[in-house]
Amino acid sequence: MTSIPRLGHRCSNQYARLILQSLIEVAGENGMRAVCRLAGLAALIDDLPPENEAREFDHSDLAAIFQTLNEIFGSHGSRSLAFKAGQMTVVSMLETYGANFEVGGQPQPEIPMDEKVDKGLEGVRFMLHQVSDQQVDLMHDETSGAWWVKVRDCPICQGRESAEPVCAFTEGMLDQAVFQFSGGSKFQVREMDCIAAGGDACRFLVQIPKPENPPFTV
Ligand SMILES: [Zn+2]
Repeated sequence: MTSIPRLGHRCSNQYARLILQSLIEVAGENGMRAVCRLAGLAALIDDLPPENEAREFDHSDLAAIFQTLNEIFGSHGSRSLAFKAGQMTVVSMLETYGANFEVGGQPQPEIPMDEKVDKGLEGVRFMLHQVSDQQVDLMHDETSGAWWVKVRDCPICQGRESAEPVCAFTEGMLDQAVFQFSGGSKFQVREMDCIAAGGDACRFLVQIPKPENPPFTV
């Protein structure tokens, strides 16, 4: 397995725990036991990070887990698992942090759709800054109507190399956030640029599905 260098970026124990719990849910306990063993983190499944906000979980360990998921389940299978785990992690983050950080809550039907999507993406940005060293920027392109989410110091692909973007987990997070905050509308979420594929940051395009943009499937 590829060894991932440590760059000093970390996330909170609680955030790592929520990600691992989502991965166990989608890949099964035995599957994740195998992944963690191969990633050099054999004890992790029986000894999940504690439920506290100390920023002690190294991004390189998360990257090693997602890299090994790819090695065991193949690129298509691991994409699908990571995407689902990202969706589930947003649900559990909103349960865990939503009230504290004043994000989440019920969708408000009276506000325009653009504002709902802004609110969902801003919620993810705010939560990720609270729980990890990754830097997230948002941009709404008024002309095309699309949103761009830029992630630096990404814990999913740090130190990895790939011909194609690998951050399906983050795609799943963004997908779930805009789904929940828009009141159930589906958007296209696609990683266009990835640090693992040579980008200076991971960049995600979020847009309303249009006939000329067939739905993106994982
Ligand atoms: Zn990436």
